[in-house]
Amino acid sequence: MPHVDFREVASCMGKVSKGVKCSVAGCAEKAVKSVSAQRIPSSMKIEGSGRRAYLCETHWKQLKKMTREQQKVERMRRVESFGSKVIL
Ligand SMILES: [Zn+2]
Repeated sequence: MPHVDFREVASCMGKVSKGVKCSVAGCAEKAVKSVSAQRIPSSMKIEGSGRRAYLCETHWKQLKKMTREQQKVERMRRVESFGSKVIL
């Protein structure tokens, strides 16, 4: 079994230590996930300016939904540009 740095695993799993509050402005829920602040869409207001943002279950679901929709749009765009290349 390869050696795995626990901190590394924790950071990629987005695990949150106990007692951390959600970083979304106005939300006081307990954070369950931490994500890179860059992944937070501008429509979701984050308090503080750390490199990581902490999200409660509700906001984590919201972010996942937003991210999925964004990816869908990007995929559609790629398909469109690919299609137009084929036509041209
Ligand atoms: Zn929240």
